[in-house]
Amino acid sequence: MLGALTGCAASGPGASRHGAPRGPAAAGRGGPGTRVPAGGPRTISTGLPALPAVPSRASIVARYGGLAPHAWGLHLPGTMGTLPPAGKVLALTFDACGGPGGSGYDHSLVTVLRRYAVPATLFLNARWIDANRPVFATLAADPLFEIGNHGTRHRPLSTTGRSAYGIAGSRDCGEAYDEVAGNHAKLTALLGAPPRFFRPGTAFCDDVAVRIVGELDETVVAFAVNGDGGATFTPAQVTSALLTAPVGSIVIGHMNHPGRGTARGVAAALPRLLDAGFRFVHLPPPTVGPRSR
Ligand SMILES: [Zn+2]
Repeated sequence: MLGALTGCAASGPGASRHGAPRGPAAAGRGGPGTRVPAGGPRTISTGLPALPAVPSRASIVARYGGLAPHAWGLHLPGTMGTLPPAGKVLALTFDACGGPGGSGYDHSLVTVLRRYAVPATLFLNARWIDANRPVFATLAADPLFEIGNHGTRHRPLSTTGRSAYGIAGSRDCGEAYDEVAGNHAKLTALLGAPPRFFRPGTAFCDDVAVRIVGELDETVVAFAVNGDGGATFTPAQVTSALLTAPVGSIVIGHMNHPGRGTARGVAAALPRLLDAGFRFVHLPPPTVGPRSR
């Protein structure tokens, strides 16, 4: 596998929600069964009907602070890296990492997706959202796209301070919580419903962090195919990566580096894949993770 996700590093990824309600009605997932942690819930004030409470930072630190992680990487148990068997399907995901050098918007890429009506999950970092509010509003309003959480500061999601691609990870459980919860709150307020999916900055995480993400009712999304090498691939390399993607793959790319090879490579690949009978789908409801046990 092509492991480099330097697009992230330089800046510092069934029932689809196609047509699904974006408003408060969609927030009922947590519903009456939402757990109230020992540290007390932290409610999110949006001026809208009540949204599921999220665990407090203190409760997460109390529950997970004494646990030592046993795994660190891009593909850990409890994360989603492929789709359930459903024929010739692929799921595209694009990260917007934010921060210095990483807050661009690849309008050409989004135009291509809309041209072919290909859905995608867009993992947006809090800093990218702040730098692109009008664009964010158009993306969030488009049922072709589901908005995922790409962290608050784009840190590798560690509970012990491990780094990836030279980017320092969160140092403990509290910082891992902050990385997820900060943008979780931002997205919940902006979307009127909490995000379902999380991709860490650089996509690296440890197994304790995966559980913390689950406590916020999000699932860590990995990938099976690196579609643009962190926005370093040429268009031909992007096209090749997509055309050779195994059935059921979740593909990672980037949407924060306009002018790189991603948009042109995707534009060349999509009509060929559609002609070959591939369908593009949103990510399915999580089937693994703490909240689905
Ligand atoms: Zn990123």
